[in-house]
Amino acid sequence: MVTVEVDPVHVESRLAAGAIACPVCRVGVLGGWGYARARRIEGLSDRLRPRRARCRSCMVTHVLLPVTVLLRRAHAAERIWVALTARAEGLGHRRIGGMLGIPAATVRGWLRCAGQRLETIRSWLLGVAVTAGVNVAIPDGSGCPWRDVLAAAATATSAIRFRFGPVGLLGAVTPAGVAVAASGGRLLAPGWPTLPRSR
Ligand SMILES: [Zn+2]
Repeated sequence: MVTVEVDPVHVESRLAAGAIACPVCRVGVLGGWGYARARRIEGLSDRLRPRRARCRSCMVTHVLLPVTVLLRRAHAAERIWVALTARAEGLGHRRIGGMLGIPAATVRGWLRCAGQRLETIRSWLLGVAVTAGVNVAIPDGSGCPWRDVLAAAATATSAIRFRFGPVGLLGAVTPAGVAVAASGGRLLAPGWPTLPRSR
C-alpha cells in the first residue's frame, strides 16, 4: 500500500514517469497495474477506485490509496481525525458519533485503536516534523496523551507547510493528511508501525 495525492491525473503522470518508488525493494519504481475494486468512502463525494501498481523490479503489486483515506477504514480520514480531535476535547464516542452522524460503535472502534497507540502516533508525527522542519520546537507533554497527539500533528503540519507550502507534495496540508502520510495510511491498521522491512 502506497499513499499518494488525491489528483488521479497527477498520480498517472508520476506512474508513467517512474517517479513512485517501490516501498518493498526500494530499488524499483511502480508502473500501472489495473485498479482495485471501487468502493464508497463515507465523507468523500466520489467513489474511490484505487489504482493498482506493480514494481518493475521486484514485481510486487501495491494499492495506491489517496491521502484522504486510511487503510481498511470506510470513512474519510478527515472524519476520523475530527473524532480523535473531539476525544481530545473530552467527548465520548456516543456524543462524537451523534455529532458526526456515524454509529457510536464505529467511533468507539477508532478511539480504541488510536488509544492503544497514542505515543507511537505522537512520536511518528514529531519525527516527520523534525525531518521536514528547521529548528522545530517539540511541544511539551500536556498530561493528556490525546492532546499531545494533536499538538504533534500541528507541529508536523506547520513544519511541512513551512518547507513545502500550504499545498505540500500530496495536496492541501492538513493535520489529518499529515497523519495519513506519516503512517503510510496505516494510522489505525493492525501492526503499524512494525512493518516488515522486506518480503
Ligand atoms: Zn520493488
